[in-house]
Amino acid sequence: MLINSLEILEKMNPNQKINYDRVLQKMIQTWQKEQIQPKILIHSCCAPCSTHTLEYLCQYAQVSVYFANSNIHPRTEYLRREQVQKDFIEAFNAKTGNQVGFISAPYKPNDFIHMVKEKHLEEEPEGGERCHACFELRLDLVAEKAQELGFDYFGSALTISPKKNSQLINHIGIEVQEFYQVSYLPSDFKKNNGYKRSIDMCREYDIYRQCYCGCLFAAKEQGVDLKQINQEAKAWLENRQKIPFHMITDSSELAEKPSTD
Ligand code: SF4
Ligand code: SF4
Repeated sequence: MLINSLEILEKMNPNQKINYDRVLQKMIQTWQKEQIQPKILIHSCCAPCSTHTLEYLCQYAQVSVYFANSNIHPRTEYLRREQVQKDFIEAFNAKTGNQVGFISAPYKPNDFIHMVKEKHLEEEPEGGERCHACFELRLDLVAEKAQELGFDYFGSALTISPKKNSQLINHIGIEVQEFYQVSYLPSDFKKNNGYKRSIDMCREYDIYRQCYCGCLFAAKEQGVDLKQINQEAKAWLENRQKIPFHMITDSSELAEKPSTD
């Protein structure tokens, strides 16, 4: 039986802020001691957060990315981020010899919108209760898929982002694992220069970095012009279809403006 983070957490001081990177490191140490390479399904909502996360985890585990993000609006932007994520994984595998897998969930934007409306979270600021519910929804989906496909762990690449509350994400992940036969992989991938490395890797791989988190509500709050996003994503997708994959990995043709996320 592979180690569960609770075995480490129960030995830690509950009154101190938990360093989830330390927890992950301790888990990795046990895998190494037992000479195990666990199978991990890691959630990501676009390529930037997955960069260093994959580089780090692939040293110790067999990793697949789960793209389950019905929160993203509009559809064209969702398709674009999905494609950028796929392209990055292919380029990363080609460059490093890793074999990271990619799995995509069906796009069901109404599920997300209904959840937000049902809980009256439309007016919540970014980082508030709507984001809490959004993390819960997506971590639940990744846990379900990880269990279905026989992974050892499920986790989230989002802890690399300084704009995301990694304490909250880890807390939700640990709660979600109670409902499944698969363990949550705690993390704080931004630590040890992880965030900086993700910026460097975005440059290295010419990765598109979006200018808003994803949902309609946050985009509106931020004053993002969704019509323009739609047009740009549509044009990008049309252009992407014309370009063979090997040219994308070699050129900056699809590079775009920096992300604020
Ligand atoms: S940069 Fe933002 S949208 Fe992209 S994976 Fe990270 S948290 Fe998600
Ligand atoms: S701002 Fe991002 S994390 Fe928060 S609800 Fe919207 S898509 Fe989800």
